Amino acid sequence: MVDVLIIGAGFGGAVAGRILAEKGKKVEIIEKRDHIGGNCYDCFDDHGVLIHKYGPHIFHTKIKEVYDFLSRFTEWYPYKHEVLANVYGTYLPVPFNLNTLHKVFQEDADEIEELLVSTYGKESRVPILKLRESSNPKLQKVADYIYENVFLNYTMKQWGKKPEEIDPSVTGRVPVLVSYDNGYFQDDYQGMPKDGFTPLFEKMLKHENIKVTLSTDAKNVLKLENGKIYRDGKEFNGLVIFTGAVDEFFDCKYGRLPYRTLHFVSKYFEEDSYQPVAVVNYTVDQDYTRITEYKKLTGQKVKGTSIMEEYPASYTDPLKETPYYSIANDENLALYEKYQKEASSYKNFYLLGRLAEYKYYNIDGITKKAMELAETLS
Ligand SMILES: Cc1cc2nc3c(=O)[nH]c(=O)nc-3n(C[C@H](O)[C@H](O)[C@H](O)COP(=O)(O)OP(=O)(O)OC[C@H]3O[C@@H](n4cnc5c(N)ncnc54)[C@H](O)[C@@H]3O)c2cc1C
Repeated sequence: MVDVLIIGAGFGGAVAGRILAEKGKKVEIIEKRDHIGGNCYDCFDDHGVLIHKYGPHIFHTKIKEVYDFLSRFTEWYPYKHEVLANVYGTYLPVPFNLNTLHKVFQEDADEIEELLVSTYGKESRVPILKLRESSNPKLQKVADYIYENVFLNYTMKQWGKKPEEIDPSVTGRVPVLVSYDNGYFQDDYQGMPKDGFTPLFEKMLKHENIKVTLSTDAKNVLKLENGKIYRDGKEFNGLVIFTGAVDEFFDCKYGRLPYRTLHFVSKYFEEDSYQPVAVVNYTVDQDYTRITEYKKLTGQKVKGTSIMEEYPASYTDPLKETPYYSIANDENLALYEKYQKEASSYKNFYLLGRLAEYKYYNIDGITKKAMELAETLS
């Protein structure tokens, strides 16, 4: 007898499952893939290097309760994420900060730094739109430099857009950090699970009230019909938390929800190091957006090194591709609402997570949402 059926063993499903299990509910998690962990799954490649199969994931949060909850299932390797942009062969810290300023604007940098500090204050984040509005041509020059060399080409690749299709309000939000801190995130809690994400999931799901069923598509076991939920043909009166792709589940009856996907190209080198930091963004050239060198992310001590190039593309084939980034425009959100409306007409059927809610979540965001949902359902 199962009280709660959870579809998907990513952070959404696993966190909700664990909390409900601890409250005494019998939980079954059904996962389509042959592994747990959702898109945060990591594993060893053929060379013994720990890699993230679905792209690099770094844990960071300001939310103490999320950090405390996940810390029950892992220790942390104290990794602080610093990203470099490769701009015509020169490495520049991003987001653009005072270190970047001095590398790029050399003899003008001291004067621009003073201007930034006196106008906006030390440690502030200044959107480039504000710099553009400034009457000082040197500040405008900084804004133009960032737009052209850090933002434009990268964003075009990421979202498959032409320059004129890029929303100026989004462009304007790209920040300059009036600080010498090269950190990519400003969150209090940052790190990588010491033994990897998959062992974190294994510990979270190890509970007498949790059963995990892998390699099973919910579409083959779960049916929603005339206000009732059926599991393997029998009416199911427990709770269902669905974290899969909601359009697929309803046979795309209103149309397919658009996503961007990523194609990864993995390479191994005998050398100990490939690039200066774990993640380098390619912001002016190359078809890939970034390269991740995994041992620099995970802290693994291993001979040789494995890297992954990341190529964004339109999501066209659900059998061969993974939907990664939802494309949140009015049209797509209106389409999503149709699925949401249909799902919400079934009592005890809850949508949770990046695919079911058609919404980007960071790990901490989905963990918090799953914790809240589980609390209300227990
Ligand atoms: C490239 C990339 C990099 C990212 N990097 C970071 C980062 O550095 N830090 C960070 O905080 N966040 C990062 N994120 C976000 C992070 O991936 C998400 O927060 C997290 O994966 C969301 O968890 P989820 O449970 O909603 O979805 P998922 O992890 O996708 O889990 C959903 C699960 O449901 C399963 N499923 C789907 N349909 C069915 C079905 N019909 N039947 C059974 N099972 C099904 C899937 O196989 C999957 O295992 C990144 C996202 C991307 C795309």
